[in-house]
Formats: sequence, C-alpha cells, structure tokens
Amino acid sequence: MQKGKKIYEGKAKIIYATNDKDLVIQHFKDDATAFNNLKKAKIEGKGVLNNRISEHLLTSLKNCGIKNHLIKRLNMREQLIKKVEIIPIEFIVRNIATGSLSKRLGIQEGTKLDNPLLEYCLKNDDLSDPIISKEHIYAFNWSSESEIKEIDKLSLRVNDILSGMFKAINIKLVDFKLEYGKYWNKDKDRFELILADEISPDTCRLWDEKTEKKLDKDRFRKDLGNIIQGYQEVARRLGIMHEETNIKEVSFSRPTSIKFKKK
Ligand code: 5GP
Repeated sequence: MQKGKKIYEGKAKIIYATNDKDLVIQHFKDDATAFNNLKKAKIEGKGVLNNRISEHLLTSLKNCGIKNHLIKRLNMREQLIKKVEIIPIEFIVRNIATGSLSKRLGIQEGTKLDNPLLEYCLKNDDLSDPIISKEHIYAFNWSSESEIKEIDKLSLRVNDILSGMFKAINIKLVDFKLEYGKYWNKDKDRFELILADEISPDTCRLWDEKTEKKLDKDRFRKDLGNIIQGYQEVARRLGIMHEETNIKEVSFSRPTSIKFKKK
C-alpha cells in the first residue's frame, strides 16, 4: 500500500490518500486540544497509544458484528482504513452524568443514569459543536431518519460491548463520542453505514471502578497531570502493553519508546 498526499488534517489525526481510491491512511498525532482549540499541547506518546487502543477496541467491536472502517494497523502511528463520507454529527453515549451534560442541565456529577443517554452534536468547530435534536438533523439533511435509527441501535450495542469490556478490567465507561460514515460497497453497489474515526481515551471518559480516578483526556482538560500514565493504564489493563513501558509526561518531541505485546 503506497502512502499518497495529505488529504485532511484535524486536531489529533491526519488522513493520507493511498494508491487505492477506497482506502486511506489515518495517522495519530501527539497533539491534544480542548475547549474548542483554546487549550493545546503535545503529549508525547499519545498518538501511539490511541492508535493501539483504538485498533484493539474496533477489532473487538468487529468481532461482535459492528462494521467499522479499520482494515489494519500499519505501524505505531498509522492505520489503513476505509474511506468514508463522515456524517457531520458527533454521537454521544452517556452512562454517568458529567462533562457538558452536568454543566448544561445542572445534573450532579457522577449521577448514574438509569438508561444510556444518546445525544447528537453538530461537528462544527466554529460553533463549538452545538448539541442538536433529531429534528435539526432531519430538517437540515445532515442524516436521514433511517440512518439515525440504525445509528442509535449501533451506538447502544457499542455501549453494551465496550461497557462489558471495560468492566472486566475494573474501568467504568462513563461516556464517549462516536462518528459514523458512509462507505461505498462495490460488491453490494450501495453505500453502507459504518463506524469510523477512533475510540480511545481521547474520545471516552474512563474512570477506575473503585477510586473513580480519571484515565482519559479529562486529565488534560482539567490539568490533572499524569495524562499519558492514564492512557498507558488503559492499554495495560486491556492487555496490549508491556508492564515495563515507560513514557515520560508531556514534553515536546523527545523520542518515545513504547513496547506493545505481539498479537
Ligand atoms: P462532553 O459533551 O461531556 O464534553 O463529552 C462527552 C463525551 O464525548 C466525552 O467522552 C468526550 O471525550 C467525548 N467528546 C465530545 N466531543 C468531543 C470532541 O470534539 N472530540 C473528542 N475527542 N471527544 C469528544
């Protein structure tokens, strides 16, 4: 597979073309941003960890029948993925109230929700990804009723699978963000809805079951320190990283040594 030119650069990832028009390469950067780009840093090793964690989670989901864009991980920072047309919506699933939900509605932080709560946000940095209703989605043709129905079902299934996986390693899956895209299936001659983007401590809130210690991007958002250690802890508990791995805390382009277990 030949790597072609850069076709998109986002806050945490870069997409490169390949010599196959249906496939692209997703590169995970060490850059972290929060509060709509107001807070920025380079977190050495974050891209490597997110690449590996997302590969593990998307592969596990695929094994449970959730179609997604991942073909294979190519190296420490890159994955070969299906080229999709991304639906311009962030699909949020919440099990415990925190973050923008608590802020917006005054719900006590840490309140366990009786049922998973689905929210939709428009992917638009200039507007700070505002929350929207299904009616907005249909009114402005961001997605169709049948797609949203399918996505809601898929997101709840993803929540069930991931909650179980994390529970087994004593981590609470508090909430997360999913993105979906449409992929042209040549064999079926039609577009197919598949899970896209990444699932990692950048896109999920993950709390230690007992201590409720945050093991995710909130360590960066809230200046809690030991950011990379949180991500490493997730990788270690998922069984994809050697115990002796040691990445230093936030720094600027120092060489990183991370060892992963062979599959
Ligand atoms: P909140 O709406 O409380 O800020 O976020 C809810 C969940 O979605 C959190 O797990 C958060 O990490 C994730 N999330 C929401 N918006 C974004 C986003 O723009 N980028 C990333 N990486 N995650 C997001």
